[in-house]
Amino acid sequence: ESRLNKNYTFNNFVEGKSNQLPRAASYQVAENPGSAYNPLFIYGGVGLGKTHLMHAVGNYIRTRSPDARVAYLHSEQFVAEMIKALQLNAINEFKARYRSVDVLLIDDIQFFAGKERSQEEFFYTFNTLLEVQHQIILTCDRFPKEVNGLEERLKSRFGWGLTVAVEPPELETRVAILMNKANIESVALSDDVAFFLGRLIYSNVRELEGALRRVIAYSRFTRRPITMELTREALKDLLALQEKLVTIENIQKTVAEYYKIRVSDLPSKRRSRAIARPRQIAMTLSKELTDHSLTEIGKSFGGRDHTTVLHACRKIDELKRTDRRVAEDYQNLLKRLST
Ligand code: ADP
Ligand code: MG
Repeated sequence: ESRLNKNYTFNNFVEGKSNQLPRAASYQVAENPGSAYNPLFIYGGVGLGKTHLMHAVGNYIRTRSPDARVAYLHSEQFVAEMIKALQLNAINEFKARYRSVDVLLIDDIQFFAGKERSQEEFFYTFNTLLEVQHQIILTCDRFPKEVNGLEERLKSRFGWGLTVAVEPPELETRVAILMNKANIESVALSDDVAFFLGRLIYSNVRELEGALRRVIAYSRFTRRPITMELTREALKDLLALQEKLVTIENIQKTVAEYYKIRVSDLPSKRRSRAIARPRQIAMTLSKELTDHSLTEIGKSFGGRDHTTVLHACRKIDELKRTDRRVAEDYQNLLKRLST
């Protein structure tokens, strides 16, 4: 009925810097629905755990109060149901259905863009629920103000509660997610293999899990243990595509293009912000995406010291959390480097 996925719980959501805030906010909402943050708005790229967190809240509330009416639906489903109700002359039933729930979870609201009637209907549902302090959680693939074709009055209301972003997880978190998943599947995963996979796929947890699933399936099928050799075999096609691509050189080229600076600016001595920031980002990407040591990375950036690289990585990690511009740039660059 509530369409909640039982596997998406807080318990099997791996926490890391990249998702600490949305996870904590979701947990508080689960403990105090309607009063902690209403609405809770979670945004960020594909495969980063938005849907998982939303279900985790729903499941948590249902465990505590089995009678709570928790409705989960995708925004496209909301649109489809509304259209159907209009056709069947049952719009009042439709209105009543979602205005009477205790918790409303609507996923991927970017699909409301351009659908005015649905937005209007949703607007009233939203107001009704908020008035009686029933919890609303929404997700979106980007910052609400940046969704084109969405009414201003909705956008402004989305900001009434708390808006939080999910970021692509850091290497350590990706490895922890893999270990967790392997554990659930009762599969032994060595550090080697986990770090290898974590480095290979870095911008989407769903794809990360997909790769692990392929390795596990291949291991079962061939009745061989999961070694580095087996992993490389299982992911031959992916490797052919990616391993060649992500080199420091390529990262520098991509970053320079993105910021419209020269590749030669990156290893140069220039220290203006317009160069220094992209340089720090390129260093951080090199550490995250390649096997090179800090010393080697420093060398590729004009013979800088490994502590300079370390400092850059820390700085960017911090800015990713505090500066939306940097967070977005980083995410865009990850995307460019992975396709
Ligand atoms: P989104 O809705 O942001 O596109 P999902 O919530 O569907 O992403 O997550 C994609 C997959 O990755 C799901 O199977 C989810 O369980 C898993 N996942 C994402 N983040 C985490 C995490 N931090 N810990 C464990 N699993 C995660
Ligand atoms: Mg989702």
